[in-house]
Amino acid sequence: MKQEKSNLLYEESIKRIPGGVNSPVRACKSVNRTPLFIKRADGPYMFDEDGNMFIDYIGSWGPMILGHRDPEVIDAITSVLKKGTSFGAPTNLEIKLASMIIDAIDSVEMVRMVNSGTEAAMSAVRLARGYTGRDTIIKFDGCYHGHADTFLVEAGSGVATLSIPGSPGVPESIIKHTISVPYNNIDAVEKIMVEKGNTVAAIIVEPIAGNMGMVLPEKEFLGKLRKLTAKNGTLLIFDEVMTGFRVAHGGAQAIYEVEPDITCLGKIIGGGLPVGAYGGKREIMRYIAPEGPVYQAGTLSGNPVAMAAGIATLTKLKQPGFYETLSEKTNYLARGLRSAAKKAGVKVKIYTTGSMLGLFFTEKEVNNFDDAKKCNTDMFVKYYTNMLDRGVYLAPSAFEALLFHQFTEKIF
Ligand SMILES: *Cc1c(COP(=O)(O)O)cnc(C)c1O
Repeated sequence: MKQEKSNLLYEESIKRIPGGVNSPVRACKSVNRTPLFIKRADGPYMFDEDGNMFIDYIGSWGPMILGHRDPEVIDAITSVLKKGTSFGAPTNLEIKLASMIIDAIDSVEMVRMVNSGTEAAMSAVRLARGYTGRDTIIKFDGCYHGHADTFLVEAGSGVATLSIPGSPGVPESIIKHTISVPYNNIDAVEKIMVEKGNTVAAIIVEPIAGNMGMVLPEKEFLGKLRKLTAKNGTLLIFDEVMTGFRVAHGGAQAIYEVEPDITCLGKIIGGGLPVGAYGGKREIMRYIAPEGPVYQAGTLSGNPVAMAAGIATLTKLKQPGFYETLSEKTNYLARGLRSAAKKAGVKVKIYTTGSMLGLFFTEKEVNNFDDAKKCNTDMFVKYYTNMLDRGVYLAPSAFEALLFHQFTEKIF
């Protein structure tokens, strides 16, 4: 594979942008590569500066469930662009996207738009702390909730990929309010809740974990979290930034039939533009300024162009059978991967839900971050490198889920 132009751009980029990238995992360090510079994308494909074509299995790390340059999304963006790009005043488009989210997710009665998943999770925790008057947060090892200070304890995604246990710059005085416990370990949560449940503002969890590879919640895990939080006056926050509108129209909470108090969204709801949101029960959401005392704001929040992309995307996701079809394609791919691995004598564990797939080089079941970390990372690097050379663009990390789009069938 030719990488001359990308390499030249990387040389220029690294002089001006830390690591040459604007988000760490893009640097491809853990797979011993330098980044490919992308020129354009179309449907299931991405094309780099050297003219290489790839089947894209990252989907911009989540948003592109419709593939790239979906005509209806592009049309919606274009028509709004002509009327202006930002007004700093309310628009009808914000009501429309809010309604679509409220209609899709039962537990969401009101919603506030922000610009990223990081902002959504950060604001949700502030709201939970403000509403309960408590400081402590419980999270789970290997879950990623964006890069706000509170969450940089045993975090997943790029933090896991680069083996950064916490982060310099995060004060001890903030981290001391965060307790991180192993995913799927309800006994550990119960112990903390019995000891000091009345000081815990919120438990935040990815209802299906997608930032340590994909790890499914064990039966009863989410239901028990719901019971423990309700009993202690603690809020339950589902971070569905990745799973929202991906695993099902109503998110992971619709699959597991557990209703959180607050839901964080991002990625798909922006249709490829920067959008995040957090929503929940009216009584809780009313604590946010200007209705309530918890402050949270944003110059570009609810941006009309971004709202238009989100509305067009969610409209398409309402097509009957969309998620069923995507799920079948994902399972088809999983069967193919399992049989190829078997033929090659390679031990793998593969999990799927909706359009997400977790692939681990191990013989043992993967139920938490420790299990994920024990997988054969050398094998992952080998797999990644060979796939890339064959034109398959995967996340350059063993700690990421594979995310599919509606064109998945076109590539078989
Ligand atoms: C991607 C992600 C975030 C962070 O979203 P950004 O838009 O990258 O800030 C938060 N939580 C989860 C579960 C995510 O997958």
